[in-house]
Amino acid sequence: MRKLMAANWKMFKTASEARETAEELVRLCGIVPADREVLVIPPFTALSAVAGAFEGTAGFFLGGQNFYPELEGAFTGEISPRMLKDARCTYALAGHSERRHVLGEDDALVGRKTAFGLEQGLSMILCVGELIAERRAGKVHEVLQRQLEVGLADVPRDVAPQRLSVAYEPVWAIGTGEVAGPEEIVQAHGFVRSVLVEIFGVKGNEMRIQYGGSVKAGNASEIIYLDNVDGVLVGGASLKADSFSQIVLAG
Ligand code: PEP
Repeated sequence: MRKLMAANWKMFKTASEARETAEELVRLCGIVPADREVLVIPPFTALSAVAGAFEGTAGFFLGGQNFYPELEGAFTGEISPRMLKDARCTYALAGHSERRHVLGEDDALVGRKTAFGLEQGLSMILCVGELIAERRAGKVHEVLQRQLEVGLADVPRDVAPQRLSVAYEPVWAIGTGEVAGPEEIVQAHGFVRSVLVEIFGVKGNEMRIQYGGSVKAGNASEIIYLDNVDGVLVGGASLKADSFSQIVLAG
């Protein structure tokens, strides 16, 4: 399966800054290796600028950071999957740790988003991961099991496996410079894989599991070839085309 190399630009970059970074990324990456996909997830206001930069390229995809799980309606400040698709997104995130822990989204809402996004034709990345207190209390598996079971509860069991990814992002590693160690990553990804297989049967082996949390150019190649690591989700180090292109091309 192709590794999914994703850039989460969070609440950074105006449209023109995003276009410039995306154009530079395309130039620096050159031909995207056949075993990789590059996904950029900019703020909503920069989607069309990044779509423009990706026009006519191969291997570059666009994603939404969030949406509300309804077709349309009186939901001020929200955006629908249909609007994301109209802006040329093929992917979206659900349950990023900042949505869970800063903006108060619970497992049930994250689950509604995951199922609805898939139903509406987006490929979904469900983000999961434990807080440092939960790790210290020996609850990593318990937290991941709950987030996966509730987050995937309404996903049809016959979903095409390439349309559903899980990003394992330990909250204590996001934006802190403290990357999880190889043992911790392999353990957690192995557990996520076992839950996916429990839920979806053998198809769970074909779903991608990305690692996220302080990935940078200097550590990407140590991470992407670990067992059950099928890509990365990168925040800080994806904001500059130079460092993200090195991550995309890490060998
Ligand atoms: C993220 O935003 O999902 C993330 C992993 O951020 P960072 O790479 O900055 O830790």
